[in-house]
Amino acid sequence: MSEYKLTAEIVRRSQSDNWDAAKLEWVLAEIYFAEEPKTCLCDHFPIIEICVLRNKLNGDEAEIGNCCIKKFVGLPFKIFQAIKQIKRDLKRSLNSESIQYAFDHGWINQRERDFYLYVMRKRNPSLRQVEVKKRINKNFLFRYSIRRSSDAEEICEEA
Ligand SMILES: [Zn+2]
Repeated sequence: MSEYKLTAEIVRRSQSDNWDAAKLEWVLAEIYFAEEPKTCLCDHFPIIEICVLRNKLNGDEAEIGNCCIKKFVGLPFKIFQAIKQIKRDLKRSLNSESIQYAFDHGWINQRERDFYLYVMRKRNPSLRQVEVKKRINKNFLFRYSIRRSSDAEEICEEA
């Protein structure tokens, strides 16, 4: 399977012009079994178990197979992975899935989200950019741990 074909095709059908941002525009709309084998966006053939992705911004649809669906719905795994990474080193980057998660939960605003998606792809970000990124990382860990400790309190109250 060609990872390049998949990402290029998805970016072409998205509003965003890069893969990290483009993949976040897509949600799983439905799944079905195809009567006739189809071809995945990555060129893999045949696929029978079809996942239909829908673009949240332009309504476009794309059909892909199991070969590629993990790139879109591996979400919780990806976020846990990112948390572990920035816990070890605050200078590291969250991945785009975690950034979208933080944005969806109102932890960061649109400007911070766009900033982060831009900076995480830069090979040599400026010191100031790294500082802002670290602040967002710290905030992410803080918000995530607040949620965790309030859950613990709920459990205590029930007991
Ligand atoms: Zn595929």
